Amino acid sequence: MFRKLYNEAVISFELKTVSPLFIRSGREDQLNPTAADNTFITMYRDGEPVPVVPGSSLKGVFRSCAEQLLPGSCDIFRNPCANRIKAKERQMDRQQGKEFSLGKERYKESCPTCKLFGSTILKSRVYFDDAYPIGKYKIGSRVSVAIDRITGAAMKGPVYEFEYIENALFKCNIYLKNFFRWHIKLLFEIFDRIDQGFVVFGGLTSKGFGQMRVQNVNMMVRYFGKHEEMEGYIDKGFFKEKSISGRETISALLKDVSINDQNLLQGCDLEYDKAL
Ligand SMILES: [Zn+2]
Repeated sequence: MFRKLYNEAVISFELKTVSPLFIRSGREDQLNPTAADNTFITMYRDGEPVPVVPGSSLKGVFRSCAEQLLPGSCDIFRNPCANRIKAKERQMDRQQGKEFSLGKERYKESCPTCKLFGSTILKSRVYFDDAYPIGKYKIGSRVSVAIDRITGAAMKGPVYEFEYIENALFKCNIYLKNFFRWHIKLLFEIFDRIDQGFVVFGGLTSKGFGQMRVQNVNMMVRYFGKHEEMEGYIDKGFFKEKSISGRETISALLKDVSINDQNLLQGCDLEYDKAL
Protein backbone atom coordinates (compact mmCIF):
# COMPACT_ATOMS: atom_id res chain seq x y z
CA MET A 1 0.00 0.00 0.00
CA PHE A 2 0.97 3.63 -0.38
CA ARG A 3 2.18 5.14 2.86
CA LYS A 4 0.11 8.26 2.37
CA LEU A 5 -3.04 8.95 0.40
CA TYR A 6 -2.84 12.30 -1.41
CA ASN A 7 -5.70 11.97 -3.84
CA GLU A 8 -8.01 9.57 -5.60
CA ALA A 9 -10.24 9.70 -8.66
CA VAL A 10 -12.83 7.69 -10.55
CA ILE A 11 -13.24 8.19 -14.28
CA SER A 12 -16.46 6.67 -15.63
CA PHE A 13 -17.23 6.37 -19.32
CA GLU A 14 -18.91 4.21 -21.94
CA LEU A 15 -17.27 2.26 -24.74
CA LYS A 16 -19.57 1.99 -27.72
CA THR A 17 -18.83 -0.64 -30.37
CA VAL A 18 -18.23 0.83 -33.82
CA SER A 19 -17.37 -2.45 -35.53
CA PRO A 20 -18.15 -6.00 -34.33
CA LEU A 21 -16.24 -7.00 -31.23
CA PHE A 22 -14.78 -10.51 -31.21
CA ILE A 23 -15.89 -12.38 -28.11
CA ARG A 24 -14.75 -15.99 -28.42
CA SER A 25 -14.46 -18.93 -30.70
CA GLY A 26 -17.19 -21.55 -30.59
CA ARG A 27 -14.62 -24.20 -29.75
CA GLU A 28 -11.51 -23.50 -27.74
CA ASP A 29 -9.08 -25.42 -29.90
CA GLN A 30 -5.78 -25.18 -31.71
CA LEU A 31 -7.43 -23.94 -34.89
CA ASN A 32 -8.35 -20.59 -33.41
CA PRO A 33 -5.64 -18.17 -34.57
CA THR A 34 -6.84 -15.46 -32.22
CA ALA A 35 -6.64 -17.54 -29.04
CA ALA A 36 -3.95 -15.24 -27.64
CA ASP A 37 -6.17 -12.22 -28.25
CA ASN A 38 -9.23 -13.84 -26.78
CA THR A 39 -9.69 -11.32 -24.02
CA PHE A 40 -13.43 -11.56 -23.49
CA ILE A 41 -15.25 -13.77 -21.07
CA THR A 42 -18.87 -14.75 -20.73
CA MET A 43 -20.72 -14.37 -17.46
CA TYR A 44 -24.26 -15.45 -16.75
CA ARG A 45 -26.87 -12.94 -15.58
CA ASP A 46 -30.39 -14.22 -14.92
CA GLY A 47 -29.42 -17.39 -16.77
CA GLU A 48 -28.45 -15.46 -19.91
CA PRO A 49 -24.86 -15.30 -21.16
CA VAL A 50 -23.41 -11.77 -20.91
CA PRO A 51 -20.09 -10.82 -22.49
CA VAL A 52 -17.69 -9.03 -20.17
CA VAL A 53 -14.49 -7.15 -20.94
CA PRO A 54 -12.26 -7.99 -17.96
CA GLY A 55 -10.58 -5.04 -16.28
CA SER A 56 -7.20 -6.72 -16.80
CA SER A 57 -7.80 -6.73 -20.58
CA LEU A 58 -8.77 -3.06 -20.58
CA LYS A 59 -5.68 -2.27 -18.55
CA GLY A 60 -3.55 -4.21 -21.05
CA VAL A 61 -4.94 -2.24 -23.99
CA PHE A 62 -4.42 1.10 -22.22
CA ARG A 63 -0.94 0.08 -21.09
CA SER A 64 0.31 -0.87 -24.54
CA CYS A 65 -0.98 2.43 -25.94
CA ALA A 66 0.74 4.30 -23.08
CA GLU A 67 4.04 2.59 -23.98
CA GLN A 68 3.77 4.10 -27.46
CA LEU A 69 2.80 7.57 -26.25
CA LEU A 70 5.21 8.08 -23.35
CA PRO A 71 8.87 8.74 -24.18
CA GLY A 72 11.32 6.32 -22.54
CA SER A 73 8.80 3.59 -21.73
CA CYS A 74 10.04 0.05 -21.25
CA ASP A 75 8.75 -3.03 -23.06
CA ILE A 76 7.09 -4.88 -20.18
CA PHE A 77 7.40 -8.28 -21.91
CA ARG A 78 10.89 -8.11 -23.37
CA ASN A 79 12.84 -5.64 -21.28
CA PRO A 80 10.95 -4.40 -18.21
CA CYS A 81 12.53 -1.47 -16.39
CA ALA A 82 11.93 -3.41 -13.15
CA ASN A 83 14.91 -5.66 -14.09
CA ARG A 84 17.21 -2.65 -14.44
CA ILE A 85 16.03 -1.23 -11.12
CA LYS A 86 16.46 -4.56 -9.30
CA ALA A 87 19.99 -4.89 -10.68
CA LYS A 88 20.77 -1.37 -9.52
CA GLU A 89 19.38 -2.10 -6.07
CA ARG A 90 21.56 -5.22 -5.78
CA GLN A 91 24.62 -3.20 -6.77
CA MET A 92 23.84 -0.44 -4.27
CA ASP A 93 23.40 -3.09 -1.58
CA ARG A 94 26.86 -4.45 -2.30
CA GLN A 95 28.53 -1.05 -2.51
CA GLN A 96 26.92 0.65 0.44
CA GLY A 97 25.89 -2.35 2.49
CA LYS A 98 22.52 -0.80 3.22
CA GLU A 99 18.96 -1.14 2.08
CA PHE A 100 18.12 0.86 -1.03
CA SER A 101 15.09 2.97 -0.11
CA LEU A 102 11.97 1.62 -1.76
CA GLY A 103 8.63 3.07 -2.80
CA LYS A 104 9.37 6.62 -3.86
CA GLU A 105 12.84 5.66 -5.12
CA ARG A 106 11.38 2.88 -7.27
CA TYR A 107 8.72 5.24 -8.63
CA LYS A 108 11.46 7.72 -9.52
CA GLU A 109 13.55 5.09 -11.33
CA SER A 110 10.64 3.47 -13.20
CA CYS A 111 9.74 4.34 -16.78
CA PRO A 112 6.68 6.61 -17.21
CA THR A 113 4.36 3.72 -18.18
CA CYS A 114 5.33 1.65 -15.12
CA LYS A 115 4.91 4.78 -12.96
CA LEU A 116 1.17 4.63 -13.65
CA PHE A 117 0.47 0.99 -14.54
CA GLY A 118 2.93 -0.59 -12.10
CA SER A 119 5.43 -3.42 -12.51
CA THR A 120 6.72 -6.43 -10.59
CA ILE A 121 8.37 -4.01 -8.15
CA LEU A 122 6.00 -1.03 -8.21
CA LYS A 123 2.35 -0.87 -7.19
CA SER A 124 -0.06 0.22 -9.91
CA ARG A 125 -1.80 3.56 -9.37
CA VAL A 126 -4.61 2.70 -11.72
CA TYR A 127 -7.31 0.02 -11.49
CA PHE A 128 -9.82 -0.96 -14.21
CA ASP A 129 -13.23 -2.46 -13.38
CA ASP A 130 -14.66 -5.27 -15.50
CA ALA A 131 -16.86 -3.67 -18.17
CA TYR A 132 -20.42 -4.97 -18.60
CA PRO A 133 -22.76 -4.10 -21.45
CA ILE A 134 -25.67 -1.81 -20.65
CA GLY A 135 -28.93 -1.93 -22.57
CA LYS A 136 -29.50 -4.02 -25.66
CA TYR A 137 -26.83 -5.57 -27.87
CA LYS A 138 -26.58 -8.16 -30.59
CA ILE A 139 -24.54 -11.35 -30.50
CA GLY A 140 -23.63 -12.89 -33.83
CA SER A 141 -21.49 -15.74 -35.03
CA ARG A 142 -19.44 -16.39 -38.12
CA VAL A 143 -17.48 -19.23 -39.59
CA SER A 144 -13.96 -18.51 -40.71
CA VAL A 145 -11.09 -20.36 -42.29
CA ALA A 146 -8.29 -21.06 -39.83
CA ILE A 147 -5.04 -19.22 -40.43
CA ASP A 148 -1.69 -20.95 -40.20
CA ARG A 149 0.13 -19.35 -37.27
CA ILE A 150 3.53 -19.51 -38.93
CA THR A 151 2.86 -18.64 -42.56
CA GLY A 152 -0.28 -16.54 -42.08
CA ALA A 153 -1.88 -18.42 -44.97
CA ALA A 154 -5.39 -19.85 -44.85
CA MET A 155 -5.30 -23.54 -44.00
CA LYS A 156 -7.12 -25.97 -46.25
CA GLY A 157 -10.14 -27.64 -44.77
CA PRO A 158 -10.52 -26.66 -41.14
CA VAL A 159 -12.87 -23.85 -40.26
CA TYR A 160 -13.76 -22.45 -36.89
CA GLU A 161 -16.74 -20.59 -35.61
CA PHE A 162 -16.49 -17.46 -33.51
CA GLU A 163 -18.87 -15.12 -31.78
CA TYR A 164 -18.98 -11.34 -31.81
CA ILE A 165 -21.01 -8.60 -30.21
CA GLU A 166 -22.46 -5.62 -32.07
CA ASN A 167 -24.31 -2.41 -31.18
CA ALA A 168 -23.15 -2.67 -27.59
CA LEU A 169 -22.38 -0.11 -24.93
CA PHE A 170 -19.95 -1.11 -22.17
CA LYS A 171 -19.88 0.73 -18.86
CA CYS A 172 -16.30 1.31 -17.68
CA ASN A 173 -14.73 2.67 -14.51
CA ILE A 174 -11.08 3.58 -13.97
CA TYR A 175 -9.90 4.19 -10.38
CA LEU A 176 -6.75 6.13 -9.55
CA LYS A 177 -4.89 6.54 -6.28
CA ASN A 178 -2.07 9.04 -5.74
CA PHE A 179 -2.24 10.25 -9.31
CA PHE A 180 -0.41 13.10 -11.01
CA ARG A 181 -2.28 15.32 -13.46
CA TRP A 182 -0.26 13.89 -16.34
CA HIS A 183 -1.66 10.42 -15.55
CA ILE A 184 -5.16 11.75 -16.27
CA LYS A 185 -3.92 13.59 -19.36
CA LEU A 186 -2.46 10.31 -20.64
CA LEU A 187 -5.75 8.43 -20.17
CA PHE A 188 -7.57 11.16 -22.11
CA GLU A 189 -5.00 10.97 -24.93
CA ILE A 190 -5.72 7.23 -25.07
CA PHE A 191 -9.47 8.00 -25.29
CA ASP A 192 -8.65 10.08 -28.39
CA ARG A 193 -6.60 7.21 -29.88
CA ILE A 194 -9.55 4.83 -29.31
CA ASP A 195 -11.92 7.26 -31.10
CA GLN A 196 -9.48 7.59 -34.00
CA GLY A 197 -9.40 3.79 -34.40
CA PHE A 198 -5.71 3.39 -33.49
CA VAL A 199 -6.50 1.54 -30.28
CA VAL A 200 -8.70 -1.53 -30.78
CA PHE A 201 -10.08 -4.28 -28.57
CA GLY A 202 -10.32 -8.07 -28.67
CA GLY A 203 -9.36 -10.42 -31.48
CA LEU A 204 -9.47 -10.23 -35.29
CA THR A 205 -8.60 -6.52 -35.20
CA SER A 206 -6.66 -6.88 -38.47
CA LYS A 207 -10.03 -7.64 -40.06
CA GLY A 208 -11.51 -4.42 -38.71
CA PHE A 209 -13.01 -5.87 -35.54
CA GLY A 210 -12.84 -4.19 -32.14
CA GLN A 211 -13.21 -0.50 -32.96
CA MET A 212 -14.84 1.50 -30.18
CA ARG A 213 -15.83 5.07 -29.26
CA VAL A 214 -15.50 6.70 -25.87
CA GLN A 215 -18.51 8.64 -24.67
CA ASN A 216 -20.25 10.02 -21.60
CA VAL A 217 -17.06 10.72 -19.63
CA ASN A 218 -17.40 11.86 -16.02
CA MET A 219 -14.94 12.17 -13.20
CA MET A 220 -14.92 12.39 -9.41
CA VAL A 221 -11.77 13.72 -7.73
CA ARG A 222 -10.76 13.85 -4.08
CA TYR A 223 -7.78 15.53 -2.47
CA PHE A 224 -6.68 14.79 1.07
CA GLY A 225 -4.99 17.60 2.94
CA LYS A 226 -4.58 20.21 0.19
CA HIS A 227 -4.81 23.61 1.83
CA GLU A 228 -4.52 25.91 -1.14
CA GLU A 229 -7.57 27.56 -2.69
CA MET A 230 -9.29 24.83 -4.72
CA GLU A 231 -11.95 25.91 -7.18
CA GLY A 232 -15.27 24.12 -7.21
CA TYR A 233 -14.42 21.61 -4.45
CA ILE A 234 -16.75 20.67 -1.64
CA ASP A 235 -15.10 20.30 1.76
CA LYS A 236 -16.10 16.90 3.15
CA GLY A 237 -13.96 17.06 6.27
CA PHE A 238 -11.25 14.48 5.60
CA PHE A 239 -11.01 15.44 1.95
CA LYS A 240 -12.18 17.91 -0.68
CA GLU A 241 -14.24 16.54 -3.53
CA LYS A 242 -15.29 17.64 -6.99
CA SER A 243 -17.42 16.01 -9.69
CA ILE A 244 -16.57 17.04 -13.23
CA SER A 245 -18.94 16.25 -16.09
CA GLY A 246 -17.94 15.93 -19.71
CA ARG A 247 -14.77 15.17 -21.58
CA GLU A 248 -14.24 18.74 -22.81
CA THR A 249 -14.55 20.20 -19.31
CA ILE A 250 -12.01 17.72 -17.90
CA SER A 251 -9.63 18.19 -20.85
CA ALA A 252 -9.77 21.96 -20.37
CA LEU A 253 -8.40 21.51 -16.83
CA LEU A 254 -5.39 19.65 -18.30
CA LYS A 255 -4.56 22.15 -21.04
CA ASP A 256 -1.22 23.10 -19.46
CA VAL A 257 -0.12 19.44 -19.01
CA SER A 258 2.08 17.73 -21.62
CA ILE A 259 2.86 14.00 -21.60
CA ASN A 260 6.07 14.77 -23.53
CA ASP A 261 7.51 16.93 -20.76
CA GLN A 262 10.38 14.90 -19.27
CA ASN A 263 10.58 17.03 -16.11
CA LEU A 264 6.89 16.54 -15.50
CA LEU A 265 7.08 12.76 -16.09
CA GLN A 266 10.00 12.44 -13.68
CA GLY A 267 8.47 14.42 -10.83
CA CYS A 268 7.75 12.31 -7.74
CA ASP A 269 6.36 14.84 -5.28
CA LEU A 270 2.60 14.78 -5.27
CA GLU A 271 2.52 17.76 -2.90
CA TYR A 272 3.70 19.98 -5.75
CA ASP A 273 1.24 18.72 -8.35
CA LYS A 274 -1.54 21.27 -8.83
CA ALA A 275 -5.09 20.17 -7.98
CA LEU A 276 -7.30 19.37 -10.97
ZN1 LIG B 1 8.77 0.32 -17.23
